[in-house]
Amino acid sequence: MLKDRSILVTGGAGFIGSHLADRLLPENKVTVLDNFSSGRREFLTPYLETPDFELIEADLLDADALEIALKGKDFVFHLAANPDVRLGAEDTRVHLEQNIMATYNVLEAMRKTGVRRIAFTSTSTVYGEAKVVPTPEDFGPLMPISLYGASKLSCEALISSYCHTFKMQSWIFRFANIVGERGTHGVLVDFIRKLHANPKELEILGSGEQRKSYLEVKDCVKAMLHCVEHSNDETNVFNIGSCDSLDVTRIADIVAARMGLSDVKYRYTGGIDGRGWKGDVKVMLLSIEKIKRLGWTPLCGSVEAIEAAVDALLPEVE
Ligand code: NAD
Repeated sequence: MLKDRSILVTGGAGFIGSHLADRLLPENKVTVLDNFSSGRREFLTPYLETPDFELIEADLLDADALEIALKGKDFVFHLAANPDVRLGAEDTRVHLEQNIMATYNVLEAMRKTGVRRIAFTSTSTVYGEAKVVPTPEDFGPLMPISLYGASKLSCEALISSYCHTFKMQSWIFRFANIVGERGTHGVLVDFIRKLHANPKELEILGSGEQRKSYLEVKDCVKAMLHCVEHSNDETNVFNIGSCDSLDVTRIADIVAARMGLSDVKYRYTGGIDGRGWKGDVKVMLLSIEKIKRLGWTPLCGSVEAIEAAVDALLPEVE
């Protein structure tokens, strides 16, 4: 299905978006729209001179630019967002604007230009503190505990209602933590930066006991494309993650070992109930039975994903 198509990737200069562009480009025409708030031009350097590639520097809050970018497209991968969960506790507008309003603008521009299919990157945080772990897609009620999670759940609701009302089709992906090459944020980048600055001591947000699931970014992109190719409901919702989880202290051990450091002293901030920040979900493991039934399984577990990601990030993170 994703062959010889004209595809718009919002946020395509970002961490996951640039890996998605890598996978889509050989067989499709790809337009990336990005405002470079966290994305980097260098992630797309190999394609800048490629005839099947176009880069539009624009903001999703600019509805006219979006409409121009969408004209003639067959499919939208909508990844652009503010992914910083912590920010919501300090700035209550950022996720409203960058996630909800931005997604509304994408959907409106699709409606006006007749583009019918959208894939959207949602998150495990829509589940809040789920009582069922591993958490399946039909768990409810969905009660996010961060403004970021709330904004992504709102986006999901907008997307499914646009699909029904305007005969569109969507794929909604609820990601676990995605790690790997070109990562610019998250626990691994944080630990590597801190250990570069001080190899003797590492500040760990929360109690270190928060347990989450991690998936390697290329595997994540494969899973997204697999779902688009193999599911065909009006709105298709899939968890994407690995089969297991690990805690933050174990991640610190792996990062320190991969950096060749020993006897690093860990300093835990403790936080609220051991959380790293307000809105930090302490235990996250997604059920991936639904996507497995479709024929995709993760290539490795969380530990291997973290190890590979640290090795890829060490030459990149200063
Ligand atoms: P990222 O910050 O690397 O990528 C986001 C991209 O969107 C960046 O290139 C940024 O410049 C661009 N962008 C942001 N706001 C924009 C705007 N208003 N207009 C145009 N461009 C804009 O983040 P990522 O980790 O690659 O995440 C991609 C998507 O996956 C996001 O929607 C995020 O919420 C979701 N997600 C990521 C993870 C993860 O672990 N990385 C987990 C769950 C969900």
